[in-house]
Amino acid sequence: MKKNNQNRFDVIIAGGGMIGVSMALAISSFGLKIGLVEKVERDENNQPSFDDRSTALSRSSQNMFEALGIWEKIRQASTPIRAIHVSDKGRFGFSHISAKEEKVEALGYVVINRVLGSVLLEELESKNNITVFCPETIISIDEKEKLCELKLRSEDKNPSMSKIKSKMLIVASGAKSGLHRMLGIGANEIKYSQDAIIGNVQTEIPIDNRAFERFYESGSIAFLPIENNRSAFIWVLPDNQSRAMMNSSEEDFIGSLQEKFGMRLGNLNNLGSRVFYPLTLTQAYRLKTKRSVLVGNAANGLHPIAAQGFNLGLRDVATLADCIFSEIREGNFDENIGKIMNDYAIWRKSDHQKLGYFTDGLVKIFGSKHSSIGIIRNLGMLGLDFIPGFRRLFVRHTMGLAGRLPRLSRGVPYQ
Ligand SMILES: Cc1cc2nc3c(=O)[nH]c(=O)nc-3n(C[C@H](O)[C@H](O)[C@H](O)COP(=O)(O)OP(=O)(O)OC[C@H]3O[C@@H](n4cnc5c(N)ncnc54)[C@H](O)[C@@H]3O)c2cc1C
Repeated sequence: MKKNNQNRFDVIIAGGGMIGVSMALAISSFGLKIGLVEKVERDENNQPSFDDRSTALSRSSQNMFEALGIWEKIRQASTPIRAIHVSDKGRFGFSHISAKEEKVEALGYVVINRVLGSVLLEELESKNNITVFCPETIISIDEKEKLCELKLRSEDKNPSMSKIKSKMLIVASGAKSGLHRMLGIGANEIKYSQDAIIGNVQTEIPIDNRAFERFYESGSIAFLPIENNRSAFIWVLPDNQSRAMMNSSEEDFIGSLQEKFGMRLGNLNNLGSRVFYPLTLTQAYRLKTKRSVLVGNAANGLHPIAAQGFNLGLRDVATLADCIFSEIREGNFDENIGKIMNDYAIWRKSDHQKLGYFTDGLVKIFGSKHSSIGIIRNLGMLGLDFIPGFRRLFVRHTMGLAGRLPRLSRGVPYQ
């Protein structure tokens, strides 16, 4: 009897956000039949990944997009960061990191998620071996001995159900989808009692190519340079204040933002629209099951204090691509899916742990009112400037260049 292979794939990627699409592109040259399932259409205002946030891309992320041949398009739509200034309101410690001193062209690049999304999705459309199911929601996963079976519900005007099957499932559905729980994977979830409000403003003193992060007693404000001399801000503040700030008038909002950030960029004005994000840390207890593996926010949903979540997720993508490639090269993909997922989970452990401790530690240190912690804050910032080894290590971590790096994160293409 002839089998219908139309709905059978080598790999299915659950979630077509920033990480899911990057994953599909990373393995697109391996000769696999790939399916990608995304529940929200790209042009919808509520698309949760390709939204109005600005993302600071690290050097390892830049390397990866270079290796995939799409960096030039992303670079043209992004703004380089040539200096980072970190300060703590009311304390003497501050730190300044510059691209010149680090002998690099830029410390990172800022791109608006929606714009990054257009480049990634345009590239995705050019790949013949990737079938996109959108708008379709994965409503159940059944892991069998040799295949994963997924049930999909279409989200268009005439809802219908369908089934697709795959040898391997890559879960890139973000921190809140619940797909990890469907697979029996629990997660450590910490609610920070903080929210982030993002938006953009014009500054009296041009931000040029500088990024600022300012901590104050109950939150932090980051300013990132974007096009047309505007600055994107991420204001992290206690959750009992955020609703009022979201509903405040433009004048009151700018007044409060200015009061917390200070006059380093002169007067702030011309506020764009504001968007609100509750902040949590979600860390899956395991990265794999029999035939499924977690990447990106599905594995680690970090606090944005260090602007590292997407960069960390891209290193998941590059590592998993390396593990898959090794077995394809040996002709062992079908037999060694368990090994691929095992190798991936072992390789990613250290980077996940370090970034988890680092971001959670920053939130706790800068969220504490205790005077001894205040001293640590000052010393930490001074340490960055005055202890060369410490500074070097910090910069390498921020640029995503520490530890054993997979091929794409080093900028090496597969062909
Ligand atoms: C305010 C803020 C600022 C940030 N700034 C930075 C930064 O500067 N640098 C940085 O590196 N990181 C940053 N991050 C983190 C970064 O945004 C995330 O790490 C990144 O969006 C994760 O992408 P993802 O694709 O894993 O998950 P998501 O963006 O959550 O995408 C998941 C996708 O899966 C889809 N999906 C969910 N469930 C299903 C289902 N059942 N079926 C089908 N599809 C499904 C969703 O519709 C979505 O498109 C920031 C985060 C925040 C909140």
